[in-house]
Amino acid sequence: MYQIKLNREKCNGCGICAKIYPENWKIMEKKAHVMKFKLNFIGLNGKVAKECPKNAITIVQI
Ligand code: SF4
Repeated sequence: MYQIKLNREKCNGCGICAKIYPENWKIMEKKAHVMKFKLNFIGLNGKVAKECPKNAITIVQI
């Protein structure tokens, strides 16, 4: 399994994550929020982590 780690201090609320994968990423109060942190498959979350301009997202294997 995989787990998403989001550094909310680095996040600037740009919304790219929510644009790429709106089912799992929402912007609330100018910060990204993850709907589902624990994943069986990385899927589009990998692209989200790669595209985040602030490098606020890491995905680790658990
Ligand atoms: S792409 Fe990165 S910086 Fe932009 S809102 Fe999402 S987590 Fe925050």
